[in-house]
Amino acid sequence: MRLYLGIDVGATWTRALLIDEVGRVINRVKIKTSANPVEDAAKAVAGWPFDAVGVGSIGPLDLKTGWVVNAPNSPSRRFPLVEPLKRFGKPIAVANDCVAAVWGEYVFRHPVENLVYVTLSTGVGIGAIVNGVLLLGKDGNAHELGHAVIDFRSGRRCGCNGRGHLEAFVGGANMPGFYQEVTGEPPIEPAEIFRRYRQGHERAREFVELWLDAVAAGVATIAAAYDPELLLIGGSVALNNWDIIAGKLPERLKEYLGVREPAIAQASFGDDEVAVGAAALAHHTPETLRRFGYPK
Ligand SMILES: [Zn+2]
Repeated sequence: MRLYLGIDVGATWTRALLIDEVGRVINRVKIKTSANPVEDAAKAVAGWPFDAVGVGSIGPLDLKTGWVVNAPNSPSRRFPLVEPLKRFGKPIAVANDCVAAVWGEYVFRHPVENLVYVTLSTGVGIGAIVNGVLLLGKDGNAHELGHAVIDFRSGRRCGCNGRGHLEAFVGGANMPGFYQEVTGEPPIEPAEIFRRYRQGHERAREFVELWLDAVAAGVATIAAAYDPELLLIGGSVALNNWDIIAGKLPERLKEYLGVREPAIAQASFGDDEVAVGAAALAHHTPETLRRFGYPK
């Protein structure tokens, strides 16, 4: 039986998973993301047997060199993804985290030709497969639709400093500020916003209704870009509040959609989404990634 190692480099946590050919988890480890996270993951998995390794990482990436370059919010802004894994002498595949995630869904759960994964977490990320082709971009940084403008008249600034971007409204890091702007109340964290919403707190309800409109506008923009048959939504903000999204998003989406409606479903792998996707990149390396130069 062949085994695959998947490494998820997040801003806060780095996870490694060992999976078999059908995606069953054999072993796992989770470590705090350091200045050289793949090196630390390589040490943590010493002795694990595997046939190939994949990495799904926060970006932006430079896939030609195999480095993360200029990453905001991580302990070091530049670190290698490929170099620390060469010691194993196995094939290596590397992609952006959401690109890995969509590939994992495609390989193990949803083998449809037009598939999009959206994460609603601290930020907003997207991975897309169009006509069976995993989209990457010139450096591996396609799908920056978290920075799609959904309100050109808004003065709200995104973390990237652009105005009116999707992430500035729906990203977990920006929700407290958006909540303050909408309600005039002190900023509160997403978990507290949704807790108050569920308790019937009037200002929180007003805010979540607006937030859902922003999510719908963003999802409509993403659907217009890729025309998916299935659009999967993951990330902690979405997964912790799936009942609200599943109940309210489809109807709102109709207000914004310009293409035929995609099916919408919850992402499959919870906290393991990116690590499973990274292992899937190793298990079944997409043609676009091979052409890019990896695995070497
Ligand atoms: Zn932005």
